[in-house]
Amino acid sequence: MKFPPIRYLRPSALPQALDDLKQHDGSIKVLAGGQSLFPLMAMRLTEPEIILDINALDELKEIRDMGDCLAIGALIRHQQLIEDVTIQQQTPVLSLVARHIGHLAIRCRGTIGGSLVHSDPSAELPLAICALDGELIVQSADETKVVPAEEFFLSYLTSAVAANEMLTTIRVPKMANQTKIAFDEVASRAGDFALVSVLAIVTFRDDGAIQRARLAIGGVSDVPFRARDAELLMNDAALTPELVTRVARTVSEAIEPVGDLHASADFRRHLARVLTGRVLNKVIAGAKGDLSWNPSVW
Ligand SMILES: Cc1cc2nc3c(=O)[nH]c(=O)nc-3n(C[C@H](O)[C@H](O)[C@H](O)COP(=O)(O)OP(=O)(O)OC[C@H]3O[C@@H](n4cnc5c(N)ncnc54)[C@H](O)[C@@H]3O)c2cc1C
Repeated sequence: MKFPPIRYLRPSALPQALDDLKQHDGSIKVLAGGQSLFPLMAMRLTEPEIILDINALDELKEIRDMGDCLAIGALIRHQQLIEDVTIQQQTPVLSLVARHIGHLAIRCRGTIGGSLVHSDPSAELPLAICALDGELIVQSADETKVVPAEEFFLSYLTSAVAANEMLTTIRVPKMANQTKIAFDEVASRAGDFALVSVLAIVTFRDDGAIQRARLAIGGVSDVPFRARDAELLMNDAALTPELVTRVARTVSEAIEPVGDLHASADFRRHLARVLTGRVLNKVIAGAKGDLSWNPSVW
C-alpha cells in the first residue's frame, strides 16, 4: 500500500528537531530506521501528518564510555550493537540479543531507540534494557528526563516517550566481572518476532555462589517481564540443576501470558519454563569454564 501524502522534515541539529516536535505536537512522528513505523503507516494504523527524520542528527550516533556505563545514541543500528567492539566488550548482552532481531536488512536499518520506543513485548532490546536496569534519556524542547527501564515500558506498543519528546540516549551499565549471560528464544520461523524469549544475567562470587541474578522473559505480558521472585531464589545460592528446575517452575507460575493467533497461553507458559531451564543450563556450562565470557558461544 502507498502512504498518504505527508510532510517530511529532516533537521540537522537536535535543538531544531526538539523544536519541530514541540511546534507540531500530536501530528508529527519521529522516523529512525522505519522498520516499524513504515509498516504501521502502510497499514494506516498510524497516520502522522508530518515525519521527522532524525537520521541527520550525528549526536544520536555516538557510543560514549562514561566510566561505569556506556551512553549509546538512539540511532545506533541493531547491526552496530553486534559488531561494535566497545559494546561487545562492555555490554555484551546487547550484542548477544541483537543477533536474534529479524534479518540482516532489518538489523542494518533498525535502531535501538526505535525498538525501545516501539515497545514490542516480544522484542529483544526492550528485554535486554529491562534486565540490565538501563536508563533512558528522554528530551523535549523544555526538559531532559532520566527514565529507569522499569518505568519506560508502559504497555503493549506504548513507552513513556510523549509525542513532543525524543529518546536520545540509552545508558547501560558495564558488565560486572565473573558474569555469565545466556539468551534463547522460540519463534515460528527464523527472523520472526519471538513467541517467548528468556535472558539470564548471572554474576558469581569467588566462592562460586550467585552474587546477583537477573532474569527477564519476553512475549508473556504486555511489557518485558522481570522474574523477580525467581531472581530472589537464585541470589546467594549455588546454581545447581535442582535450583534450575525450581527457578523454571517459579517463572512459569509467575507469568500470566495471553493466548493469540500465534500461540496459546499454555504454550507460552510451557516455553517460558523450558527456555528458562535452557538458558540457566548454559550459564552453568559457562561458569564451569574459565569465567571469561566468549561471545561466540552463546
Ligand atoms: C520483517 C521484520 C521483522 C522484524 N523482526 C524483529 C525481531 O525479531 N525482533 C525485534 O526486536 N524487532 C524486529 N523488527 C522490528 C525492528 O527491530 C525495528 O527496527 C524496530 O522495532 C524499530 O526501530 P526503527 O529504528 O526501525 O524505528 P522506526 O520504525 O523508525 O520507529 C518506530 C517507532 O518509534 C518512534 N521512534 C523511533 N525512534 C525514536 C526516538 N529516538 N525518539 C522517539 N521516538 C522514536 C517512531 O516514531 C515510531 O513510533 C522487525 C521488523 C520487520 C520489518
